Amino acid sequence: MALDLETTGLNAGAHEILEIGAARVESGRITQTFDRLVQIRGELSLQITHLTGICEQDLRNQPPIEELLPEIMDFVGDSPIMGHNIDFDMGFLDEKITTSSPLFQRENPLDRLQNPRLDTLLLARALLPRIKNHRLETLVQFFEIPVRNKHRALDDVQAEIRLFDALLRMLLSAPPGVLKQFVRIVAPLTDGTAHLIQRAFQLVQTGAEQVPGVPNQILQKIPRLNNIIGENAPSGARKEKEKMDEDEVAAIFDRGGLFNQVRSDFEKRGQQINMVRGVCRAFNEKAFFLAEAGTGTGKSLAYLVPSILWAQRHPLENGRVVVSTNTKNLQEQIFFKDLPFLFRHLPEPFRAVLLKGRNNYICIDRWKKFLADAQEEVMPAGERWELLPVVTWMDETVTGDIEENSGFHVQFHTELWSRLRADAHFCPGQRCPYFQQCFVTRARRAARQAELVVVNHSLLLSDLSANRSVLGEYPNLILDEAHNLEAAATKYLALELNRYTIERFLHQLYRFVGKEVGLLPLLRDQLHFSSIEESQKNTLLTIVYRLVQIAGQTEKSCGLFFGQLSEKSWEFNFAHRAALTAKIRYRKWEDVYGALGPAADDFVESLQSVRRDLSRLLENLLLLSETVFTNLEMFCSQTEGAKNQLQEILETFQRLLETPGDDFVYWCEPAASERKQESRLKAAPLRVASVLKNRLYEPLQTLILTSATLTVGEQFDYFKNRVGLSFVEPDRLLERTYDSPFYYDDQVLLAVPAFLPDPRDPHFVAAISGLVRRLISETRRGTLILFTSYEMLKRVYSIIQPLLEAEGILTLAQGKDGSRNSLVRIFQEEGSAVLLGTNSFWEGVDIPGKPLEILVLTKLPFEVPAEPVFQAWMEEIEKRGGNPFFQLSVPMAVLKFRQGFGRLIRTGSDRGMVLILDNRVLRFQYGKIFLESLPLEAAVFEEEETLLARAHRWFE
Ligand code: SF4
Repeated sequence: MALDLETTGLNAGAHEILEIGAARVESGRITQTFDRLVQIRGELSLQITHLTGICEQDLRNQPPIEELLPEIMDFVGDSPIMGHNIDFDMGFLDEKITTSSPLFQRENPLDRLQNPRLDTLLLARALLPRIKNHRLETLVQFFEIPVRNKHRALDDVQAEIRLFDALLRMLLSAPPGVLKQFVRIVAPLTDGTAHLIQRAFQLVQTGAEQVPGVPNQILQKIPRLNNIIGENAPSGARKEKEKMDEDEVAAIFDRGGLFNQVRSDFEKRGQQINMVRGVCRAFNEKAFFLAEAGTGTGKSLAYLVPSILWAQRHPLENGRVVVSTNTKNLQEQIFFKDLPFLFRHLPEPFRAVLLKGRNNYICIDRWKKFLADAQEEVMPAGERWELLPVVTWMDETVTGDIEENSGFHVQFHTELWSRLRADAHFCPGQRCPYFQQCFVTRARRAARQAELVVVNHSLLLSDLSANRSVLGEYPNLILDEAHNLEAAATKYLALELNRYTIERFLHQLYRFVGKEVGLLPLLRDQLHFSSIEESQKNTLLTIVYRLVQIAGQTEKSCGLFFGQLSEKSWEFNFAHRAALTAKIRYRKWEDVYGALGPAADDFVESLQSVRRDLSRLLENLLLLSETVFTNLEMFCSQTEGAKNQLQEILETFQRLLETPGDDFVYWCEPAASERKQESRLKAAPLRVASVLKNRLYEPLQTLILTSATLTVGEQFDYFKNRVGLSFVEPDRLLERTYDSPFYYDDQVLLAVPAFLPDPRDPHFVAAISGLVRRLISETRRGTLILFTSYEMLKRVYSIIQPLLEAEGILTLAQGKDGSRNSLVRIFQEEGSAVLLGTNSFWEGVDIPGKPLEILVLTKLPFEVPAEPVFQAWMEEIEKRGGNPFFQLSVPMAVLKFRQGFGRLIRTGSDRGMVLILDNRVLRFQYGKIFLESLPLEAAVFEEEETLLARAHRWFE
């Protein structure tokens, strides 16, 4: 039996079923179907109508769910039920049975849908971990299964039956080793999908079932990603050559040049060629180069080509180039699109490596050990299912980068991932039996030999703290999305203490999960059976037993400490009439440690005793001989790793609470509830400028910083001051801005309504809601509305959403209708919807064409003064006699404002309107700075009617 429901939302308690589809399958054929619409009590949202095509009218004369429940239950009977994420559908049905009116009474209240369940989602995640996602739409497209109407229950059921068939074929033809591991992992589970896997394994073992697998041309559609380009390219033996010839490099980008020859749609862009020349000059003159390049310049190719050519002309110690980006999207575009294109077409081969932080890679050693224990370990079913995609992926991956594995959800299983990922503290390096296959070693080794290494700002900056131990020496650096450099440096050079980090550390030592796991039980068992001298054995066992005990006590005192922190921070905020979860900044003279009372003392003492015993354990292990104690090296290195990790925790504790200094900003982030032990202590460096100058820039020959938004008022001064470039000798610093090739005057109508109230006026929200609603209703264009606070977003949404939806205009909001990615996807697919978003939508949203034709900037994006780091920066400027508003708030807001503006025009053929609702840009002196930072003049409107008439003409 296959089943699928269409519902009004995701919450079974709050939302309703609007369609039920089911089909009985016998001997591989559909023999009977069930397809019913359901009358709902509440209103049907436009989002659901757009998704399913079902409208309120369709439901009007349909039976309510109470009437249909007995029918569907009779239809499914006792058969196993298959579906995509079947627990969701069954959960809905179960909820409706439980809450249905007396119209539907079963003799036995427990006689609910107890049928075995078969889930195509679990199977797809396990068997296809490298596909981009496991939504039904993606999977049916992948297997080329035709669907008549997506998101209609019976059509989806029919697609799911074919999907199930394809997955079953994959399961039966999976490598025997993979299938065997599946079986071990799901052994303790009793659900239908787990039984199906076990049954498949039996059939394969006995050779009873021979079915043709899924055609190879389908499976090969998923590319096998590699994080090394040109793995076999010659490297490192080049001699120093002369400088690059700017003209020659620029000619590659010119009409009739190399790129034009290999790609006829490659257009000559004057700004791009100028930037290429600038980058060549920076390399030739060993200079630092600030390049602001507007959207559409093609800046990544403009710096990649000269970088590669430079690296190819020089020995690695002078030639190596590190390219760092802020976002994953840009990193992927560079590594998986731009560099393969260049590798194919540049005359000489090169080697490029995509390198990530160690925590992104799986540790083979830990994975093997984990698997060996997985069957016996007490683990929630959800975690077991999470492991299956890892099994398949480990059989296929070249990189070991968990990002590739969409079947494993790191964000929901951080604890599980922390037991599998590579961790410096638990890595014995060359002594590891898997050192040669190790993914971290492979990527790092290749990076040391590569002309180009692509990283993100997070790795680049954390590597600074680790004295460049990961990246090694690199003479040339390119920082793309450089406008984020200060924020990234502040974030990645920060300190943090939270309960999870400490618990994770303690769990590596000892944890009871149905059985004992961790370093200590392993060592204890080995000691018991070893032939070492009795007194040594007793000493070691005494330390191990004591450590097990202290680790447990420490976990308790850790909970008490963070519990106390939550209570105190809530009390503090309550007394100061602040929001109870508002961040609390503290200064070095404030005795936070003392305020936490005995909980802090107990916690530190516990941590110190663990450290003492780990030291003793290590000293005694070092006295043993490898010949009498197996795996001695591994135990020594893991004990040492644990000791060092604890030392870092204690140092962080000390820096945060016992000896805070002047060069950091300190604060506490209270937990969401007074009782939760989830408060965090944090600190960030006050000035990153000097750190960047001394530790990042100093050893460099060439540095290129680029972004679409680096200048304020056409000057780089603000950016230079904030990131320490003002310390660089002026004749070594080149600065250029390259305008976007777009024709903004022709492509954008920039409108500022002067008739609206000030944003601080209580009537502002009502006024902007009215205007925006009219503009959208009358023009019916895809609209993105950017806010600076979630509070205002909610208020505007509550006003405009019902009105717009009544007119058939889909209106989506951040925090209400899905994740950022899914909102952007729906907005893009819909074509003329409305999307309301806050901070994260001001940057990195790339929606070309029709779906986005109106961009609304509700308020100037000034930073919130309550943010501890921002507050400290303001105080610093004030202390030096400066004006924090003009020296910090305005320039910061201008850069963000320009990023926001940049969301509208993404290609040369885009056309649309930008509406700035904050008319402080007209009324205040500083407003000019905002308007002048945009690439076209604003049209000011005194009346709503004139503005709307202009908008109509513009779109006509
Ligand atoms: S070398 Fe270290 S990270 Fe690599 S597999 Fe071995 S233990 Fe894991």
